[in-house]
Amino acid sequence: MKTALVHSDAWVRFDYGPHHPLRMERLGLTWRLMEAYGLTKLPDAAVHAGAPADESALARWHTREYLEVLKTANTGAPPAHAARYGLGPGDNPVFPGLWDAARLCAGGSLFAAELVASGAATRAFHFAGGLHHALPARASGFCYVNDAVLAILHLKARGLRVAYVDIDAHHGDGVQYAFYGDPSVLTISTHESGDYLFPGTGFVEEAGEGPGLGYSVNLPLEPYTDSSVYLPAFEQVVPPLLGAFRPDVVVAQLGIDSHRTDPLTHLALDVQGFARAVARIAELAPRLLCLGGGGYALPNVARAWTAAWAVLNGVELPAELPASFGPDLERYAFAAPTLWDLPDPLPEPKRRRAEEVAARQVDAIRRIIFPVHRL
Ligand SMILES: [Zn+2]
Repeated sequence: MKTALVHSDAWVRFDYGPHHPLRMERLGLTWRLMEAYGLTKLPDAAVHAGAPADESALARWHTREYLEVLKTANTGAPPAHAARYGLGPGDNPVFPGLWDAARLCAGGSLFAAELVASGAATRAFHFAGGLHHALPARASGFCYVNDAVLAILHLKARGLRVAYVDIDAHHGDGVQYAFYGDPSVLTISTHESGDYLFPGTGFVEEAGEGPGLGYSVNLPLEPYTDSSVYLPAFEQVVPPLLGAFRPDVVVAQLGIDSHRTDPLTHLALDVQGFARAVARIAELAPRLLCLGGGGYALPNVARAWTAAWAVLNGVELPAELPASFGPDLERYAFAAPTLWDLPDPLPEPKRRRAEEVAARQVDAIRRIIFPVHRL
């Protein structure tokens, strides 16, 4: 099977600011761990830099007016009426090169999508992508341009039936919004409940509208949901729906802010649980486009996406991190020199509460969504 990894060194020049949780250096760190494991030189895996998308590609979903504003923001100075477009101090800062970064992100995901559409690769991974919150005329949740939506639209235009599976800790609201009335795209998002976490949406009842009813699927989860709770819930929802929908290609958003040590969220997955979910998605997808997403503890990001790329290539990695990765291990204060997390069970009442809520949500999905798919 041919695979493709899309990564550009150009990301080092962008910076959301010293106090922003989204650190661009996580991309270089991930690349270096993949490299240390020998995963950037696999015989059947091509590595591509991608290229910035041009404005007309972004205009497939974003408004011209908003794109003009992003272009103006490229200097690093806030454009007029910045707040109207979600820009400004806080989540979506204006920084030098913002427009270039947005084009690079979208371009990488579109490039990876085309590799999959053309058959050049069966599975592709663009881990700088997955910015699932951006809206047509508004930045949101650290996302300026929605590369996931643009990639799905590209795959659709190439005649492919697309399912989207989003395992980020946050609801994939921008992607859901794009296809809310469209039964030709199935979106599934698993995430920490909007009762506790940005963006405050993603309840089971948000099931799509009009002909799209039943094609927007949400599995909201309690804080302290760990892999032992997450994986069975995932298993009861994702495989049956993908089986019924029969996509040609799955687009997967692989945010790792679901990890138990992520500073922004309250789910409690470990890297092995994350990798297991990725493996299940890969098994179920005839073709697969993987994107990155959230992830604010850098050692988790590097380990999780390295593990994901190994899964996509059917490579089993030794648990011990390679010796050549030593300097980064120290610099980024990895808790242990291992790819997988050490056992750290939650107090049983917390785990049980998460389990009960997950079971209730799965029941609601079975009641509201499954009949539409004759399940
Ligand atoms: Zn997230």
